[in-house]
Amino acid sequence: MVGIKSYKNFNVVPKAIYCLRALQHRGQEAWGIAIAKREPFRRKGLVTENQNVLRFVHDNYKASTCLAHVRYSTVGRSNLQNSQPLPIGREFSIVHNGTICNIDELESRVKEDFILPSWSNDTYLVGCRLLQLLKRNGFDWFSSLEELVGELNGAYSFIFLTKDNVIYAIRDERGFRPLCLGYHEESDSYLIVSESCALDVIDANLIRDINPGEFLKLDKDGLKSEQMVKSDYHAHCSFEYTYFAHPSSIIEGISVYEARKRVGRELAKLYGSMGDIVIPVPDSARPASTGYALETGLPLEEGLMKDRYGKRGGLRSFIQPFQQQRIDIAKWITPIKRVIENKNIVLIDDSIVRGTSSKAIVKSLRKAGAKKISLLVTFPPIRYPCFMGIDFPTQEELLAYKVVKEEDNIEKINDKVGREIGVDFLGYNNQKALCKGIGMPFSEMCLSCTTGNYACLKAKPKYSLRMKKI
Ligand code: AMP
Repeated sequence: MVGIKSYKNFNVVPKAIYCLRALQHRGQEAWGIAIAKREPFRRKGLVTENQNVLRFVHDNYKASTCLAHVRYSTVGRSNLQNSQPLPIGREFSIVHNGTICNIDELESRVKEDFILPSWSNDTYLVGCRLLQLLKRNGFDWFSSLEELVGELNGAYSFIFLTKDNVIYAIRDERGFRPLCLGYHEESDSYLIVSESCALDVIDANLIRDINPGEFLKLDKDGLKSEQMVKSDYHAHCSFEYTYFAHPSSIIEGISVYEARKRVGRELAKLYGSMGDIVIPVPDSARPASTGYALETGLPLEEGLMKDRYGKRGGLRSFIQPFQQQRIDIAKWITPIKRVIENKNIVLIDDSIVRGTSSKAIVKSLRKAGAKKISLLVTFPPIRYPCFMGIDFPTQEELLAYKVVKEEDNIEKINDKVGREIGVDFLGYNNQKALCKGIGMPFSEMCLSCTTGNYACLKAKPKYSLRMKKI
């Protein structure tokens, strides 16, 4: 997500597009931009997929205030209607990072005043509810958002752009998903973006993270901020640090790259030196593999290469909403036989969700002549669904849930999942070592997908299928 406002009438649309490109790892299904008083421009696929489309946007959308988004769906079908920014009446556009769990409640409130389209998703419902509240509260944004926030259960960072070129932003009080504030000198702009890597790409400076529960307003008079909701603890998503976020980003003052490297060192302390060479599963496990190699003294080898040129090869496998597409992507990781043959390999992966990619990679390592494969995983077993913005909504799809029993200890879990994946040894990280590696206390992190404890939400949502709510 990106929101930019320039204070010297600079056309910020090209900057927003650069920012989106830097945030492409967060969503590859669709992208869009919105400027005031126009229907948002939205397209399926990657931002850079079609140069003619990009040229069209550059030529036809010019504004000093703009909103932009790349989509990774957690609720709603992966189609253009659900892509963002979403226009809400003629009043404002909305972009969202997260998942709202209590959509049924919202829907019944919104239905009093709106006829909802068949596709309405969590973001659209939030937009409609906000419009309802704004109308009731004489378009007082602070009090309407305050009321809205009181009603929401889930994870959210929202940015809104009004028809009068005012930007508002809020981040939930637990701080599940990242959101930060930056400044770009040349255009005299403030930026609100999901990750700091989007600031680096346009030479903007990171000012700070937006506080959990903070409300921001960017209007002609400048930047205003207020703490809207207070929380006695935070629940920053641990998966952001090991997988989701860009390694160049700084989140809550922590470098994602350095965190991953430290997590690799923690794995080395847990399991020791387990083979002849260390091979990362590209790309996310690279820094952790470096950390593991440094700690153990084992050589690091790039024994697996990701296809960078095929249309699918460069994509992250998870980000595809359908299983067949995920399997296809795993095929585009090529082993380097000369590196692998007759070696005892320590394979490092960031996490195992469905196990699709690990199984395919292990098969190809065997084919390339690996003697022994020990797989170390930087994230603890994922056994519970996420309702806070990561798309593993059903327990049935999680490998560690399918093969492991509640009472199993870590050795048993390692053994069972390892057998399923086809490795000689599997070693999961544990929660304590993960938090130590990241550099944040356990009490400040969200680990619900590994603990099954959803106390960080207002109420535990019911498990539901991704396609149930379309
Ligand atoms: P899998 O093949 O499902 O075990 O996952 C392959 C890779 O994609 C791993 O690095 C996971 O961290 C990542 N991954 C899998 N599913 C998701 C998801 N729904 N959202 C984000 N990342 C995922």
